[in-house]
Amino acid sequence: MAWDFETDPEYQKKLDWADEFVRNEVEPLDLAFPDLQFVPLTETRRRLIDPLKQQVRDQGLWATHLGADLGGQGFGQQKLALLNEILGRSSWAPIIFGCQAPDTGNAEIIAHYGTPEQKERYLQPLLDGEMFSSYSMTEPQGGADPTQFTCSAHKEGGEWIINGWKYFSSNARTASFFIVMVVTNPDVSAYRGMSMFLVPSDTPGINIVRNVGLAGEPLGDGMHALIHYEDVRVPESALLGGEGQAFAIAQTRLGGGRIHHAMRTIGQAQRLLDMTCERALSRTTAGSKLAEKQFVQGFIADSYAQLLQFRLLVMYIAWEIDKYQDYKRVRKDIAVAKIVMPTILHDIAWRAMQIHGALGTTNEMPFFKSINGAAVMGLADGPTEVHKVTVAKQVLRDYKPTDGMWPTEWIPAKLEAAQAKYAEFLEHEVGNQ
Ligand SMILES: Cc1cc2nc3c(=O)[nH]c(=O)nc-3n(C[C@H](O)[C@H](O)[C@H](O)COP(=O)(O)OP(=O)(O)OC[C@H]3O[C@@H](n4cnc5c(N)ncnc54)[C@H](O)[C@@H]3O)c2cc1C
Repeated sequence: MAWDFETDPEYQKKLDWADEFVRNEVEPLDLAFPDLQFVPLTETRRRLIDPLKQQVRDQGLWATHLGADLGGQGFGQQKLALLNEILGRSSWAPIIFGCQAPDTGNAEIIAHYGTPEQKERYLQPLLDGEMFSSYSMTEPQGGADPTQFTCSAHKEGGEWIINGWKYFSSNARTASFFIVMVVTNPDVSAYRGMSMFLVPSDTPGINIVRNVGLAGEPLGDGMHALIHYEDVRVPESALLGGEGQAFAIAQTRLGGGRIHHAMRTIGQAQRLLDMTCERALSRTTAGSKLAEKQFVQGFIADSYAQLLQFRLLVMYIAWEIDKYQDYKRVRKDIAVAKIVMPTILHDIAWRAMQIHGALGTTNEMPFFKSINGAAVMGLADGPTEVHKVTVAKQVLRDYKPTDGMWPTEWIPAKLEAAQAKYAEFLEHEVGNQ
């Protein structure tokens, strides 16, 4: 019997260290250096950040999303989930622990599909935390449906020439290179006609037209770029994986990325629940503490219940990934986590905000950031609706239509069958009455 919910004591010690380290050393970075996580370090900041990264390395907790062959710890997803819960409390923590999205996903596909030269040029600096990268797939006219993509590349001599538009390429403004997904063969289906290229950011023809910000950020000053690729020339060696393989590569990338977001969301939601409980115990109104009001008790119970269910789901998926080592096989359940994540974060953040009263709505508390974050999670890495379609299709695969006119569970037919099965006993019962 192996359904075990315990963390081994040795690893728990590491988690305890990480928890204290993130609270004391990393969370203050979120306030002192907000929104600078993906900006290359100045010499002053390097003096602060590098020693923090070194402490993580010394604890053997650097880049835990990667296997040992790639410079990580090879811990697997269950251990990563427990660590990511802690890192989810802080925007800077994933950077300090060398496991920040989108670089993690980008590193993963270069590790899977890159040539030795590509790995040396792009992967190692990414793993060392010395370089940022951008994943350039979505286009202004449509992101959820790759058959709408028009950005393309054609071959001329020994080079590929890329032309077209990309939208929401996160961190493009500070990235050293882009992974660009383009149409290379318009005559076959999008699933076989697109390829990915590794493009250094100083390649002529990459025009960042606008840096789009999220709601609440100053106009024109965000991290999500609208890019016009204009006659961007790259050598054949810039192709990642084979020609026409982009769709398969994208799937590899997104599986890990989605579940890692879910792991970090647990940490964020736990922090919101902590704030809810503290406030409930601290504030007195209408003759009693908020914690004694049934509405507030309902808030706390609902938030706790949602968080507990989500945490168990994510841990189960982490276990599945470790067991099967195959994202495709676990795709349905990863999509389930992706579907429920925005609602859970939104609900827990909203309740936390509500019980803080007016203060909760201000920029002196973090609740709106989480509510915005929940909305973003319903789109980034694919809209909720598309993931629901995926789940439904896969669930339906295990079923078939009924043979006759009535459902299999139609009671009159089942009753007749049950009576026939136990006829001998039923006659006896009737006879004894
Ligand atoms: C914060 C953030 C960061 C991002 N970072 C990146 C990045 O680094 N690189 C990158 O390439 N992209 C990135 N994206 C883009 C993201 O992948 C797309 O937003 C997403 O795929 C949806 O595409 P879209 O915005 O064009 O919406 P659309 O495709 O226009 O969809 C809009 C809505 O239509 C509905 N819909 C769409 N398809 C279906 C369907 N099949 N069935 C039912 N309803 C449907 C859904 O309600 C959906 O929300 C990011 C997005 C966000 C918000």
